[in-house]
Amino acid sequence: MRGTKQSQNVIKTSNKLTKLKPTDKMKTKQVKAYGTQSPEADLKEVQIDRREVLSKDVEIDILYCGVCHSDLHFARNDWGMTQYPVVPGHEIVGKVTKVGSAVSKHKVGDIVAVGCLVDSCRTCSSCKNDLEQYCPEWVGTYGGFDKHLQTNTHGGYSEAIVVDEDFVLQVPNHLDLAGVAPVLCAGITTWSPLRYWNVNKDSKVAVVGLGGLGHMAIKLAHALGAHVTLFSRSTNKIEDAKALGAHEVVISTDQSQMEKAMGQFDLILDTVPYEHDFNPYIATLKTNGTLVVLGYLGPLDPPLVTVPMIMGRKSIAGSLIGGIAETQELLDFCGKHNITSDIEVVNIQDINTAYERMLKSDVKYRFVIDMKSLKN
Ligand code: ZN
Ligand code: ZN
Repeated sequence: MRGTKQSQNVIKTSNKLTKLKPTDKMKTKQVKAYGTQSPEADLKEVQIDRREVLSKDVEIDILYCGVCHSDLHFARNDWGMTQYPVVPGHEIVGKVTKVGSAVSKHKVGDIVAVGCLVDSCRTCSSCKNDLEQYCPEWVGTYGGFDKHLQTNTHGGYSEAIVVDEDFVLQVPNHLDLAGVAPVLCAGITTWSPLRYWNVNKDSKVAVVGLGGLGHMAIKLAHALGAHVTLFSRSTNKIEDAKALGAHEVVISTDQSQMEKAMGQFDLILDTVPYEHDFNPYIATLKTNGTLVVLGYLGPLDPPLVTVPMIMGRKSIAGSLIGGIAETQELLDFCGKHNITSDIEVVNIQDINTAYERMLKSDVKYRFVIDMKSLKN
């Protein structure tokens, strides 16, 4: 999940951010983690409680955790909804160390993953249709409300996590496990719209922005057989985009290139996390084409001009991560096509520097924390 400055009042989740102490009855186990107590403070080592495994729980020793823009926004309270302490991290890959008596989907020793969700209501129409990400009561991997411990959920910048088996995914273990971590957020955020809008070998897909999300969008659209174009503001990303699988790069600041691109695309995935003009991209959609907003949360400025939308039945839509079944489908697809994220592995002790570099887009294309470093 992505975000931007000053998006207060825009993001609404029903996560009940209550600050209660763990219930007396619930057995807990202390684990090492990295978190923060305030928006201004750097992340540092903290101790957190994990519940003892319940009958449907899986305990996971965390091997790698990807670093998402949401981690930084949440830690710094950029969305005005953070309750402290915060332990970020929702791109988790690890090994199962313990399972509850009723667990059937995972066993000790399995390589598994946890993404942005650790629970949902299971009964609403979204949940019944494998769209847990749109459940009004979805529980975020961090900053959500853990009904068992009666406290905030804490994410993957930690030694271990305990999660209901229904929200734990199986990882094809021939893949590079550090590179798998960003699939759990950056990957699924781009995969879900590619699947919903039925991208295939006849599709022409464009991607706006080449960061964590954008680079996964190019790889996945390419693997689905689509013709893939990157929109970029500058020429210095052409080679990288082509190496990732883009067939073309259109320089969005070059008027003649933008005119040539008019009416070309079935689907545009816009991954840019800050305010920008969507209108030039709408013009490059085919009749019936859709631009999906994945990165920016907030009002549009400049405003959207509806004329090209009406004249070509074009749509602008939004999309949020993906459901559990769809995330498993993506992991299996990545296994089959040998797809992982392009990453830079860091130690947990370097997380604050990584955040600063991420703000400057100084990473190709995702930081992943080697959680062994927390054990040092
Ligand atoms: Zn994320
Ligand atoms: Zn639900």
